[in-house]
Parts: sequence; structure tokens; C-alpha cells
Amino acid sequence: QSQEVSQVRIDYHAALLALQERGTRMVCSGKMHTDRICRFDYLCYSTEAEEFVFFHSNTSVMLPNLGPRRFQPALLDLSSVEDHNTQYFNFLELPAAALKFMPKPVFVPDVTLIMNRFNPDNLMHIFHDDLLPIFYTMLQYSDLDDEARLVFMEGWGEGPHFDLYRLLSSKQPLLKEQLRNFGKLMCFTKSYVGLSKMTTWYQYGFVQPQGPKANILVSGNEIRQFAKTMMERMNVSREYQSGDDDDYIVVFSRSINRLILNEAELILALAQEFQMRTVTVSLEDQSFASVVQVISGASMLVSMHGAQLITSLFLPRGAAVVELFPYAVNPDHYTPYKTLASLPGMDLQYAAWSNTLIENSVNYPERPWDQGGISHLDKEEQDRILSSKEVPRHLCCRNPEWLFRIYQDTIVDVTSFVATLRKTLHVKPNLKKAKAASTVHPGRVREPKCQTSVVAGNEAKLTVSWQIPWNLKYLKVREVKYEVWIQEQGENTYMPYILPHQNYTFSENIKPFTTYLVWVRCIFNKSLLGPFADVLLCKT
Ligand code: UDP
Repeated sequence: QSQEVSQVRIDYHAALLALQERGTRMVCSGKMHTDRICRFDYLCYSTEAEEFVFFHSNTSVMLPNLGPRRFQPALLDLSSVEDHNTQYFNFLELPAAALKFMPKPVFVPDVTLIMNRFNPDNLMHIFHDDLLPIFYTMLQYSDLDDEARLVFMEGWGEGPHFDLYRLLSSKQPLLKEQLRNFGKLMCFTKSYVGLSKMTTWYQYGFVQPQGPKANILVSGNEIRQFAKTMMERMNVSREYQSGDDDDYIVVFSRSINRLILNEAELILALAQEFQMRTVTVSLEDQSFASVVQVISGASMLVSMHGAQLITSLFLPRGAAVVELFPYAVNPDHYTPYKTLASLPGMDLQYAAWSNTLIENSVNYPERPWDQGGISHLDKEEQDRILSSKEVPRHLCCRNPEWLFRIYQDTIVDVTSFVATLRKTLHVKPNLKKAKAASTVHPGRVREPKCQTSVVAGNEAKLTVSWQIPWNLKYLKVREVKYEVWIQEQGENTYMPYILPHQNYTFSENIKPFTTYLVWVRCIFNKSLLGPFADVLLCKT
């Protein structure tokens, strides 16, 4: 590693002089601490103080210059989880002149991305909070390339899936504890601090019960491009090739807790129902890459609710995700994997099954609280939990009733399971038909016009016409339609019409000597809406 760090030789003397003279420079994007990413020249870190340091000089730059608002509550979020008060970033300030009295800084020559992993012990969190956001933050800033250095400041050890983080750059990521090895003061020549939240789709319930994020900005396309790159870097070849006839189902089994107690019976039922080979994978007895290899060719992935289901992002288009929930856990309240499968363009089917039979559930009241034990609670509270038929909505992360129920083992009633699949997966999982649908939106219709005429004293006509959007000339679109909205001036309702051609004469509901506002837009294949053209003012 130390060899790696010194590969890019920098002139130490020049760097020290630059730091002393120019100080730190910071320029950020984003209006709020929750959407901010900052780029720094010569951001330093004191391993003694465990604080980042901004050195002021005559030429240092701090944009935004928030004054004390920098602490209300922070300059930015260091992880991709929004506004979490354990994940804030800030720096201390010093005049550059103070460097004279400080330990000699060690310079990090690599372009560095400084951030926090949110929960590197959990596969779902690793992908959703870290890997995807890092991948797309790196794509946003072109100098965060394959040679970039990742620095994880959350203070955790490597964690069980550190190899996945290693795939993001050719350089070994650094942990907070390793920074000490560089000396008392280290200075990052060029660094970015913070992560893009653009790819996250789920909020974990810190301020309101967990659920999909309010404004999801990622589509299946970005998830699949990330998955493809990760597979290439893991040396996993896409198992599924179109024309391949070997359809199969994967059951993802957990072997430590939240077990499926009759896995063999479930596998048999699946094989029989779908006439497909059914295999199991588990993180306990195989490498992550081999799990991905198997999943990348599967027609269906069946698994208990849990972090391992994040691997559904490696499923081929057209495949189905089937998520099982233990007794008293309402699938509608825990939807990270349903939301993933349902992202536009992800093209996965999704079905949830939950155990409704308490006799098919095995619970563990005596276990430690974090594995769902409840024996530390009042007898009364224990009894209430034991007799409850559904975990009420709750906040993250230590709700004992939730933990108690989610760590139950389950005997899957195969009759009800198969019935659920028949009801929800109306189409047989089909990989051959699953081509990516076009996401090209129409442009504005051009040259919109209206013509009016008064027919009799109380009847009028309104003819609206327009030209096709410019980009349609170059596209093959299955179905092109137009939507026209007509509003009488001063009214607050409008009449919408869907029309197949480029003009139409309206006579119903059109009054003489009245002004109408008319909007026209184009729609491809029923759902791809274009923008409205400028509103037309039409006087009859
Ligand atoms: N895990 C596993 N097998 C098990 C139980 C857990 O591989 O039998 C993994 C799981 O995939 C996750 C981590 O251990 O990455 C933490 O699991 P936990 O039950 O705490 O979280 P959840 O799966 O509910 O998100």
C-alpha cells in the first residue's frame, strides 16, 4: 500500500509551499447540507484530533461561505443517508501560518473520495447506501476515475464484503483507523467529500416509518449499468443468454436466522408449479460472485425478507422476485426490494407472501434483543407482543416487536404460497420477451394553431392542429397519440382529449364569443409523455 501511495510522485517541497501559500480551497455543489458535495484542494486531516482542517490564507476559497450556518446542522452528509445526525461532515479552521508549528504534513497525491459507509455489515446497506452512490458519484466527477482513492471515515473495520468496495477503484480503500499510519497531519491534494443520493430509493424510518423515498430519481437503467460493471469486475459472465432454454428458479436461503424450515418442500413445490429446475444459493457456503453468477441467469428469485434480496438487482429483465415474510410482518410496510423491483425500467415482477399461520412460526423470545429476543421486557409487554397479529408501524431501529417478528423462522405453507404466486405473477416469468422498452420521450408538437368559427347564434367550432415533434422523424414508435386540453378562460377545470391525428375540430361544449386556452402534447406508447406546447389562446 505505501508503495502504491507513493506511485504518483509529488514534489514534497512544492506541495508544502502551495499549502502554506494557497491554503485550502473548497467549492461545493448543492443548496443544502443534504444535497451537497464539496471539492477541495489541500483539505487536511489531523489524525490526533480526528478532525478535518481547512487552512485559511490570502487565496483560500470557501464556497458556500455559510459562516456559522455551517454548523446548522452541518456542511454536508458524509453518507448517502439523508440528514442522519451521526453522519455529518465539517472541518475545523486554522490560519495557514499555523502550519509552521504543526507536524509536517503527509500529502496524499491521489484524487480522493471521502465519505462514510452507512452499515458495511449488511449487504442491502452496502449496495444501496454505499456502492451505488459511490459508483455514480465517481461518474459525476471525471477525475474520480479508476485510480481514485476511497477513504471511509465512518470508523468501522473492513466488514464482511470489503471486496465489493475494492471493485470500485484500482487502489485499496482506506479506513479511518489506517489514516494514523500516515502520520499526525495528512493533506489530500485533491478530494471530494460527500456522496450523491441520486440513486437511493429507500428511507429506513429514522423520522417516519420506513418506505420508498418521496422523490425517486433512479431508474432500472442506472441500476442495471451498475450491476453490469460490478459483474465484469467480479469476473462473472452473464449466465443468461437469450435463446437459452435452461430456465431455473433460485431459492436464496439464510442459514443463520429467519429460516425457511421446510426448504426442501418449498423447492419441490416451485419445481412442480413452474416445471423448472430449482437451486439454492446462500452467502454462508459460497462466494458472493458465485451467488451473483447463479442469480444473473435465473427466472425467479425466492427468499425471506432480508438483505440478501438486494442481489435481485443482478436478475435478468423479466425475472420475478418472490419475497417471504414471517408471521405478523406486513409486507406493505417493508418494501426496499419491492421498490427496487418496481423501479421504472427495472423490468422485474414482484410478489410477496406472508405467513398467516402462527403455528407455522417459530419465535425466539430468549435471544438477545438485537436478534429479536423480548425476555428483557416487562411481562405485560411480552404478552402484548406475543398476542399481536401484526407489528404496528414503527420507526427504526430497535423496535422489539419488529425484531421479535422479523427473526422468526417459518414453515412455508406451500398451498397458500403457490396460490399467491398464481394470483400475483400473472405472466410466467419470461426472459426471452424481456427486452428493454424504449424510454425516448416525444418532443413538443410544433406549430400548434387554432381556428374558430361561430356556426349559429349559440354554436361554435374550434379546430386545433399541429405538426409532429421533431424527434419523431427519426424514431420508430409503435403508437403515437396526442393529448389536447381545453380550458375556458377563467374556469379552473379543463377537458382532456386523446387524439390519434394532428388536427381535430371540437364542436361539443364549445360556446361562441368565448376564449379558450388550449394545450397540446404528444404521447408515445401510452405512457411516454412529451411536454406541452405553448398554450394557444383561441377566441370563438
Ligand atoms: N445474513 C446471512 N445469513 C443469515 C442471516 C444474515 O447471510 O442467515 C447476512 C444478511 O444478508 C445481511 C447481514 O447478514 O447482510 C445482516 O443480517 P440481518 O438479519 O441483520 O439484516 P437483514 O437481512 O434483516 O437486512
